Amino acid sequence: MSDLWDVIIVGSGNAGLTAGIAACEKGAKVLMIEKADQDMAGGNTKYTAGAMRFAYETSEALIPLLSHPDDPRVPRANFGTYTEDKFKADLLGFNDGAPLTPEQETLVSKSYATMHWLAGHGVTYEPIWDRQSFEKEGEIIFWGGLTLAAENEGVGLFEMELAAFERLGGQLRTNTEFADLIVKDGAVCGVILADGSTLDATSVILACGGFESSTQMRADLIGAEWKHAKVRGTPHNTGDGLMAAWAIGAQKYGRFDGCHATPMDYFMKDFGNLDIPHGERKNYRKISYFLGVMLNENGARFVDEGIDFRNYTYAQFGRAVLQQPGHRAWQIFDAKVFDLLYAEYRFHDAHFEQADDLPALLAKCDGLDADAALATLTAYNASVDTAVSFDPTVKDGKSAGSANLSKSNWAQRLDTGPYRAFPVTGGITFTYGGLKISQTGQVLDTDGAAIQGLFACGELVGGVFLNGYPGGSGLTSGAVFGRIAGAASVEGLEGSDRSVS
Ligand SMILES: Cc1cc2nc3c(=O)[nH]c(=O)nc-3n(C[C@H](O)[C@H](O)[C@H](O)COP(=O)(O)OP(=O)(O)OC[C@H]3O[C@@H](n4cnc5c(N)ncnc54)[C@H](O)[C@@H]3O)c2cc1C
Repeated sequence: MSDLWDVIIVGSGNAGLTAGIAACEKGAKVLMIEKADQDMAGGNTKYTAGAMRFAYETSEALIPLLSHPDDPRVPRANFGTYTEDKFKADLLGFNDGAPLTPEQETLVSKSYATMHWLAGHGVTYEPIWDRQSFEKEGEIIFWGGLTLAAENEGVGLFEMELAAFERLGGQLRTNTEFADLIVKDGAVCGVILADGSTLDATSVILACGGFESSTQMRADLIGAEWKHAKVRGTPHNTGDGLMAAWAIGAQKYGRFDGCHATPMDYFMKDFGNLDIPHGERKNYRKISYFLGVMLNENGARFVDEGIDFRNYTYAQFGRAVLQQPGHRAWQIFDAKVFDLLYAEYRFHDAHFEQADDLPALLAKCDGLDADAALATLTAYNASVDTAVSFDPTVKDGKSAGSANLSKSNWAQRLDTGPYRAFPVTGGITFTYGGLKISQTGQVLDTDGAAIQGLFACGELVGGVFLNGYPGGSGLTSGAVFGRIAGAASVEGLEGSDRSVS
């Protein structure tokens, strides 16, 4: 007979760790099991930039969260405000006309409080100086509603959360792969591991990510072209928790035709790479397209690269690239913007072609119809609105392009050599469809009733993101729903009614 744990958490990413902290806070005996080894524990969370989107009313509200409030840049920073209404509007912008889901309402309303709660457990944050601000007339202006990241990015977040979990008595067991749920009399009461052994628990919290790393599930649930996607993060999120929960009658919930996917280096490996040095973790991502243009193999543009701040487009444009012939495209820039490109464009293993003029550049792009591409760029250059000044701190309205496909903002002529072309493909970050949970994080069955003893949080919760994603919402979502599930899993132990409230 194995030990009886109060709570077993499957997965050691941000969602699992926040659930663990919340459960331990209530005095529970908590075991976290993790499929990966020590180095790869922490899942996608470790691959992140640690950026976290949350609602705040004033710039001052951020100061208590900062690890270095005395940083000399802070007095010059204009963090603006990001109200709950703005956060909701940003989510609604991706809902295809549908109202906010209950999960979205919860994400927004609990976002600020959850950041503070984490800070109370030793998580520290810093402003995203390099990617979310531009300097203008001495002021450092933040844009896009995203201002803070965990100190030392995703690895820092993982380490700070794991330290808090272990300080509170939680235990992490790596190299321990969940395979299935144990159900007795309709209630989940433990887990079966891949080696066939079992662990007993009063509550189980699934926090083991979505199905982005399973080629078969991507093709079956999102669409055939997703077989070709690169995976931006961990190879371990293969939908194990989802399959086990669905097998015992959990509801499939959310948008399965949507997922978070961004333009990525065409030559990156099939999965993300945690071995590359700290600070270069994001180097496969290629999301400065708003400063140039993207061309497909036929030499045609296929998205409005400047339709909005990249926070609101980057998670959608991965799909757009994947849908192009050959599942690829080229991002073209001229020397005027090289310094504005995100750092990953300059990292040692970034792939690009360079030439002193556009025809020479396009000829170097293997697989690109160079003649058609040159025609596209010539027409594009001719259509740039030269009366408007370029200003990346605002949606400047400096436009270009045809009526069919304009570039709405930040359109500058490609006229200053040298020129660079970065080959990109679509990389999946995480999936949107998953499980339906109650307000207390319990997994619901197909009739909407709670499955006793089973909770979920993180990527495998459906309904949080529908047809798109405002950058930095994934970690906040994991923390908000992790905290809820962790606390509720323990409240059940105290004999309270576990039914859905
Ligand atoms: C490159 C990249 C950059 C990103 N940047 C940001 C960002 O800056 N801000 C943001 O908000 N979001 C970002 N995201 C999204 C963010 O990573 C996710 O929203 C978040 O980490 C999901 O947390 P999670 O705990 O649900 O999953 P994960 O962090 O992936 O954790 C799931 C864990 O479960 C484990 N697991 C899987 N199957 C099993 C099993 N059978 N048994 C045991 N364990 C299992 C995995 O190994 C993993 O450790 C980024 C994602 C990537 C890939």
